[in-house]
Amino acid sequence: LSEKLESAFKNIKGEGRISELNIANTVKDIRRALVDADVNYKIAKEFTDKVKETALGSKVLLSVNPGQQMVKIVQDELTALMGGTESEFNVTGNPAIILIAGLQGSGKTTFSGKLANYLKTKKGKSPLLVAADIYRPAAIDQLEVLGGQIGVDVYSERENKDAVSIAQNAIKEARSKNKNVIIIDTAGRLAVDEVMMTEVANVKAAVNPHEILFVVDSMTGQDAVNTAAAFNERLDFSGVVLTKLDGDTRGGAALSIKYTVNKPIKFMSSGEKMDTLDVFYPERMAQRILGMGDIVSLVEKAQEQFDAAEAAKLEKRIRKNQFDFEDFKTQLQQIKKMGNIKDLMGMIPGVGKQLKDVDINDDAFKGIEAMINSMTIEERRNPDLINPSRKNRIAKGSGKDLNELNQFLKQFEQMKSMMKMMNKMPMGRMPGMGRR
Ligand code: GDP
Ligand code: MG
Repeated sequence: LSEKLESAFKNIKGEGRISELNIANTVKDIRRALVDADVNYKIAKEFTDKVKETALGSKVLLSVNPGQQMVKIVQDELTALMGGTESEFNVTGNPAIILIAGLQGSGKTTFSGKLANYLKTKKGKSPLLVAADIYRPAAIDQLEVLGGQIGVDVYSERENKDAVSIAQNAIKEARSKNKNVIIIDTAGRLAVDEVMMTEVANVKAAVNPHEILFVVDSMTGQDAVNTAAAFNERLDFSGVVLTKLDGDTRGGAALSIKYTVNKPIKFMSSGEKMDTLDVFYPERMAQRILGMGDIVSLVEKAQEQFDAAEAAKLEKRIRKNQFDFEDFKTQLQQIKKMGNIKDLMGMIPGVGKQLKDVDINDDAFKGIEAMINSMTIEERRNPDLINPSRKNRIAKGSGKDLNELNQFLKQFEQMKSMMKMMNKMPMGRMPGMGRR
């Protein structure tokens, strides 16, 4: 997915501003990428329409290119779609009752163990795991092994074939043993089926859980959406758990499920180790789906550091061919404010790897700044003033030799004439100078 999105964004890189045309193209590419990632077409369409609306209404930020700004918009919209902020998880009851439901193999038992471990180690709770899978004795063994690993008691009744009474007895057990959370791991079937649904619904009715978590394998794509809808209809669950995010997972599941059932995704789980449970953060998931966390932070950094008004002023000066050493110095300072040049460039997709072995240092900029600093304000504003005797003074003051200074002055003149040339072109803009 992220490769496709990257190429979608590439399409509008270098364009002068976010226009209706390049938005339409980008939006089409993003939509295709989402559909390929198993996001339902209708959802992908509604989502990209929203992005389009936002992009058209947004002001062009002068200092970053529109491609990057689109990434930011897409990321923000994705985050909003997946719930905005992380949601509450209710473990205030005594005991708090948590019912776990989902298809067989979705990761319920593994998640139950992880949740117990999380509540015990991170929330200071005293959990009791309950084995309510009445069909497979191996499921009880599995939970007991996990319980042993994390030091959490497991309640089971091997001869009892009634999930409801097991759950009720477990609550009594929890009270008598001072356990303040019980996690009921139920049986699943390979596909949605009436017996399974009725059984879980009966447990729900009998114990009135504080949380009902629907566990879903994030690798099941489109099917995950249908399963989620079926479970939600019967159980009206309170949250979703996405498992197996460590695999070659398609980010589409998170998006579609949230959109379809409109229930918060509360946890995400990757791996079989008991300590790999994460609270679900919509923003991180959006970044994961985009695969472009770094690019997004680059855009945010630029938004913080660059003053749009300053950039507009600069552009005007360039247009009038008034760009001078004072302006140049301001530009350098803007770049420096954003941090280490190499780090910044490394955030651009595709560039990072190439840059790894290249030696870029900020010292090159320091030398240039030193030369500008050794000029008087008049010289900076009017470079034509710089005659041989002034050159000598500037070179000495900046610790550079005359050759280096001459080279720099020549480069500056070349840059200026290039700007002049570009200004004559309709979309003419100096790369790196304000708008791109
Ligand atoms: P249940 O039938 O819903 O209880 O599912 P299980 O918890 O027994 O998990 C089914 C299989 O998926 C087991 O082999 C687990 O080890 C594996 N599994 C569960 N969660 C994850 C996960 O987050 N990542 C990976 N890679 N495997 C998982
Ligand atoms: Mg199980």
